[in-house]
Amino acid sequence: MKFEVTILGSSSATPIFNRNPTSQALNINEHLYLIDCGEGTQQQMLRFDIKASRIDYIFISHLHGDHYLGLVGLLSSMHLNGRKKALYLFCPAHLKEIIDLQLKYSETTLQFPLEYTFTNAQKAEVIVNNNDIIIETIPLDHRIDCTGFIFRQKKRLRKLIKEKLDELNIPVEYYTALKKGKDYTSTNGTVYKNDTLTTDSEAPKAYAYCSDTLYNEQYFNQICNVTVLYHEATFLNDMLDRALITHHTTALQAAQIALKINAKKLLIGHFSARYKTLNELLDEARSVFPATELAIEGKTFSIE
Ligand SMILES: [Zn+2]
Ligand SMILES: [Zn+2]
Repeated sequence: MKFEVTILGSSSATPIFNRNPTSQALNINEHLYLIDCGEGTQQQMLRFDIKASRIDYIFISHLHGDHYLGLVGLLSSMHLNGRKKALYLFCPAHLKEIIDLQLKYSETTLQFPLEYTFTNAQKAEVIVNNNDIIIETIPLDHRIDCTGFIFRQKKRLRKLIKEKLDELNIPVEYYTALKKGKDYTSTNGTVYKNDTLTTDSEAPKAYAYCSDTLYNEQYFNQICNVTVLYHEATFLNDMLDRALITHHTTALQAAQIALKINAKKLLIGHFSARYKTLNELLDEARSVFPATELAIEGKTFSIE
């Protein structure tokens, strides 16, 4: 099952040359999930071949402009392009007021249902549970209400050892039970243990998206052992004071978090526009957590 994330924007607050405000497109089993939608996200989607028609779920972390100012434009294009199927939007409640006002004064009635689920920045909640994935909110510690999101793959059924089943002539109608872990009893009463007939499926993977937030241990438990952690790293650690005032994280702190929660890989992003190049931020994070990558525009990372 495909599980990968493409970065559409890596900048905080304001766009700068070659870096756009935050947005990411997650491909889960060929379904697209858009996380945050900063200004210019539509252009980035065109650039990196992310088709709006394939997006059914959009997640907005909070109402600072660098995370949602591209959304009304995207909704408007979906409308103009004749979208009919529902779009599911997960966001702070006030975003509905903002969208409604924009639609009202442009006298637009969307041609497709826009289904809202409001996030709660005080409490983690499961907001999506489908065949592929369970998605929970992560309450973060920012200047205004803000939630991250964690995407957990579901555990797959066990895999059949086909040669073994053929050798024992096990009828096909038992396969589903075997995949679920049942033993097999043959017509002469011999019991074959399930683990001699099947192998365990791969361990489910998880992707955690944490932006924007102060370093705060309150959300660490929830993101423990994730496969890939995306964490904002707005500043170098020599600007820790600024990070504390603005409720952001430094590259060093992001790496400390990845180490503490035992992530396999760390992606850092949401870089301050003051940094023209990002090598120093990467080096700082890698000094603590070597498996760190820059979450920059156009890069795709497999969650594995
Ligand atoms: Zn931001
Ligand atoms: Zn913010």
